[in-house]
Amino acid sequence: MSPTWIFDLDNTLHHANPHIFPHINRAMTQYLQQELNLDETAANQLRLDYWQRYGATLSGLMRHHGTDPEHFLWHTHQFPALAHMLRSDRALRHSLLRLPGQKILFTNGPDHYADAVLRQLGIADLFADMISLQSIRYRPKPDPYGFRYILHKHRLRPARCVMVEDSADNLFTAKRLGMRTVWITGSHGRPAYVDWRIRKIAELARIVGQLR
Ligand SMILES: [Mg+2]
Repeated sequence: MSPTWIFDLDNTLHHANPHIFPHINRAMTQYLQQELNLDETAANQLRLDYWQRYGATLSGLMRHHGTDPEHFLWHTHQFPALAHMLRSDRALRHSLLRLPGQKILFTNGPDHYADAVLRQLGIADLFADMISLQSIRYRPKPDPYGFRYILHKHRLRPARCVMVEDSADNLFTAKRLGMRTVWITGSHGRPAYVDWRIRKIAELARIVGQLR
């Protein structure tokens, strides 16, 4: 039986740190300045505060300010120069094609952004489904809600799922639900809830033989 691969997007399938994340952070700070009438320093502080307290700036905005999530996600994820901002491994598509079994995308980002990134990376056709923040009622990972939603929607046995992620917190939830876990990281060491640690997607090929 082939496994089901569940992939995170940012810093898993592409490198978000050079351009994408700084751009989103700036856009969120600007959004808070405009919508809440704050200066830049206060807006930036609030963005970080909500991110630390709730795992996502949006969660804090919805909770404390009644922010419309669709309005927020649309205005904070605009990428007129996406092609120039994306950084990814040259062999990405080839590496994914070599993996047996279906692939599902599971991101804390919004629909329109995830769709645009997958298309630009040239891998959109490789995914059986795309689970965005909208799909899971704005309850971002590591909340178990989205993981359970995917298992239920696709009638998956957790033990046949392999979650591939750069966030250790998200892998903790995946493991607790019975999934296998792959941590994409440049760091050393490996928490008990991580089954495999790799540096890039190309290295997934060596895991395939161990999936029994
Ligand atoms: Mg990520």
